Amino acid sequence: MPARHATVAVIGGSGFYEFLDDAHEVEVSTPYGDPSAPVAVGDVRGTQVAFLPRHGKGHAFPPHLINYRANLWALRSLGVRQVLAPCAVGGLRDEVAPGDLVVPDQLVDRTSGRVQSYVEAGALHVPFADPYCPTLSQVVAAADGVEHGGTMVVVEGPRFSTRAESQHYAAQGWTLINMTGHPEAVLAREMQLCYAPLALVTDMDAGVQTGEGVGQEEVFAMFARNIDRLKDLLAGVVGELPAPGEGCACASWADGIDLPYVLP
Ligand SMILES: [Zn+2]
Repeated sequence: MPARHATVAVIGGSGFYEFLDDAHEVEVSTPYGDPSAPVAVGDVRGTQVAFLPRHGKGHAFPPHLINYRANLWALRSLGVRQVLAPCAVGGLRDEVAPGDLVVPDQLVDRTSGRVQSYVEAGALHVPFADPYCPTLSQVVAAADGVEHGGTMVVVEGPRFSTRAESQHYAAQGWTLINMTGHPEAVLAREMQLCYAPLALVTDMDAGVQTGEGVGQEEVFAMFARNIDRLKDLLAGVVGELPAPGEGCACASWADGIDLPYVLP
């Protein structure tokens, strides 16, 4: 029987639907419904890696309708403890340009109406001052050509921003804008997983460029131009990962606390 076990996961974003060459698909059911797609499990340089396309096969789920809880729960249930999360982002400020790869270090939630917790009873408050795993972020950011730092604002979508919204976000000093980075990161924290985003800048957001503003074709075209580079980079990162829990509290923040949900 093929393995149902992986220690590292990659959650692919828009334009990133496959990662593993020699993989088999695993159906996972969760208390929260089905994940976006069956999880592909395969070997990357000696490590068992799970791959899940965030938007499902053929981009079935728009950002606001992704079952983020099922996705993170499913990955953990396979043994995953470290999650690499590539995503497409817009640039808000001049310090980034299309084609750049960035590991942001902060997040601002501007989504609305999404279920963003496994907590459904009791008084649990989840530490989230630093939303990403510092260890995993360092390893990803050490890859060639990757920048580290900056704030990613996550908006509800599926529409893009107005010019005024975009200018407002830029004026706050925020660098990147995206539609899926939340609640994915906080659910990973609740699942006690190490999680690091890797943002590919596909365009400059509406308010910071002249012309028509960002379009969907532009986003997908930029992702297509960079997909091989991104896959190579992630495969390299997988080979460099330290043991889970080294240098971070992602797996231990709830030590001594009775969690009001079940960790698979
Ligand atoms: Zn960690």
